[in-house]
Amino acid sequence: MSQGRRTLADVTRTPTTKAAETDLARKRRARRIARLLAETHPDAHCELDHDGPLQLAVATILSAQCTDQRVNEVTPKLFARYPTAAAYAGADRAELEEMIRPTGFFRNKTDSLIKLGQALIERYDGQVPGRLIDLVTLPGIGRKTANVILGNAFDVPGITVDMHFQRLVGRWQWTDETDPVKIEHAVGALVEKRDWTMLSHRVIFHGRRVCHARKPACGACTIAPMCPSYGIGPTEPAAAAKLLKGPRAAALAEQAGVDPALVPAAAIRAPEAV
Ligand code: SF4
Repeated sequence: MSQGRRTLADVTRTPTTKAAETDLARKRRARRIARLLAETHPDAHCELDHDGPLQLAVATILSAQCTDQRVNEVTPKLFARYPTAAAYAGADRAELEEMIRPTGFFRNKTDSLIKLGQALIERYDGQVPGRLIDLVTLPGIGRKTANVILGNAFDVPGITVDMHFQRLVGRWQWTDETDPVKIEHAVGALVEKRDWTMLSHRVIFHGRRVCHARKPACGACTIAPMCPSYGIGPTEPAAAAKLLKGPRAAALAEQAGVDPALVPAAAIRAPEAV
């Protein structure tokens, strides 16, 4: 834990230990954190550019081991060249590989996209189905991807357990589970179903911009008063403010009671992490 002057978070936070917390208290705390996240990240949204379920399925497949930003650089041309499931089913492999090469693992991803197109033609009349049970049978689409598609293309509430979500709900002691499906169910029991999709975006936004894997910006974090892991990153405002990322970094500092002038311009311009 970093040493430094006491912050607002030091003064107001109520230490929470898992042993002392009842299920009801955990649910209440989770919902308070969810509300704080909604205030903190009013701009939260699916960061993969798309129009419709097919484009989102393709973008999500491409996002494996790749930043959303990089995927968004590739997809405008890709979507124009392959507008339908049939286009992917009949794609020229070499051409498709070349188009998606910047996203990495392009041979495997090409394979998934062609097989996805074929499966959609053979089984779903060329349309992406709107049920989890069907989506997870499609090539390249696991449960996480299926929930992204359901939540963002079909308005069916879904919890997306990616690495950020897993890390943050662990830090908040919402659950002890480590298996993504078990985490999904545990978190689903804590928050209202109608909030699942937006909660997922907000948690992931917080993980990318504030609560980083290696150096979380605890001293400039709006969740600090409710967070049992407060202090695993720098708590001194000047040090913490430097860790904030993204176009709203200064606003994030201000919301946490930290002088926004402490946020370096480079942090605001910095590309967001994976
Ligand atoms: S940045 Fe620190 S205080 Fe904020 S949620 Fe992460 S661990 Fe908790």
